[in-house]
Amino acid sequence: MISRREIALAAPKAEDAPFLPTVNATRRASESDIADIADKVFAGERLDAADGLRLFQHPNLGDLSLLADHVRRTKNPDPRVTYVVGRNVNYTNVCWVRCSFCNFYRTPGQEGGYTLPQETIFAKIVSCVKE
Ligand code: SF4
Repeated sequence: MISRREIALAAPKAEDAPFLPTVNATRRASESDIADIADKVFAGERLDAADGLRLFQHPNLGDLSLLADHVRRTKNPDPRVTYVVGRNVNYTNVCWVRCSFCNFYRTPGQEGGYTLPQETIFAKIVSCVKE
């Protein structure tokens, strides 16, 4: 079990990540203290929405991993970890939404757009089920 002190020691410092922009380094320094939340986690207390927001903003994934792993081991002492395999059957890449981050879509009528025939879609589904 990790201690509150370990969390405090693990709290990131700006010099830990000199590659990050200054704004991130400042944020890391000002929002890195989650020792009180760690105390609640180790005491088995329920976290509230404000705790959740602070954890969401906390920049040190290692801290979050330690706490999450502690909760997992407490709730499921059996050392077996499960996970979900997500599959998307992309039956078409034609889309009109135009999300700025998306490099997948083609607008209706644009070169490179496709919509798969039903047989291909069903074959993909069967393949996903067999995997
Ligand atoms: S992510 Fe791409 S495919 Fe999905 S809705 Fe946005 S633009 Fe369309």
